[in-house]
Amino acid sequence: MALAKGVALITGASQGIGRAIALRLASDGFDVALNDIPVHEALLKTTAQEVVAHGRRAHYVLADVSSEQEVETMVSDVVRVLGGLDVMVANAGISIMKTFVETSAEDLDRILAVNLRGTFLCYKYAGKQMIAQGRGGRIIGACSTSGKQGQPSLSAYCASKFGIRALTQCAALEFGSHGITVNAYAPGPVKTSMWDYLEAGLGTPPGALEEQLSKAAALGRVGVPSDIASLVSFLASKESYLITGQAVCILAHHLLAPFD
Ligand code: NAD
Repeated sequence: MALAKGVALITGASQGIGRAIALRLASDGFDVALNDIPVHEALLKTTAQEVVAHGRRAHYVLADVSSEQEVETMVSDVVRVLGGLDVMVANAGISIMKTFVETSAEDLDRILAVNLRGTFLCYKYAGKQMIAQGRGGRIIGACSTSGKQGQPSLSAYCASKFGIRALTQCAALEFGSHGITVNAYAPGPVKTSMWDYLEAGLGTPPGALEEQLSKAAALGRVGVPSDIASLVSFLASKESYLITGQAVCILAHHLLAPFD
């Protein structure tokens, strides 16, 4: 086995964008740690086996990213088993589609707990570990075009993604002197189980949402998880060394309202 480029930890990695990132980073030469919640253990195991099939070491950790104690333990477990942490991808996220007045305070708390608090905790414990190692690192979060512009029926989700952009900028400013860059991917629509959930909420006929969003997309199509993995591959690489504090849009579309 060739020497690994380093160790990457990806949260929410059992499926969708997280799984694609895990496999891409494995094929880029990273040993890969995978995280998800216990209900997805079987899927997570399969992804871990796929990482091993790429010729890399894999380790998986079940943890809820909204729990400080679980995130702290997850990071130390990955360091103990794989020998360090060089790339943290705080990918785990949930969405909820409800009008503003239907959204309960509990809905907002839940979305913020997983998306915003979870990302904060992953950035914090990855940053602490990378600073202690003294060899720099890459921290990458999951923003969205919903983190750049408000959208109808996605208030809680948009609030969480706007917040992730703030965390990304703040962490970038504080971690930069340690050679750690902090960036986020900010995709338009990508076909995953999150898409299925949003499509079901809209109640549109099969294919109609994809057609509408493809027409609105600058490049004429919606995304698949490997599109995002390709951007993350670059952000995790040495070549992105002078890019930090950015939430990089991918799959831009013109359905965004013209607000500032
Ligand atoms: P997905 O639902 O397919 O996967 C998300 C994963 O996160 C799931 O496996 C889920 O179990 C895991 N997860 C949820 N709560 C967790 C928790 N508390 N702790 C650990 N893991 C948890 O979604 P996806 O489309 O692959 O989205 C991945 C990320 O990309 C999310 O942050 C999402 O907001 C963001 N994103 C998605 C889209 C899209 O259109 N699909 C667009 C922009 C941004």
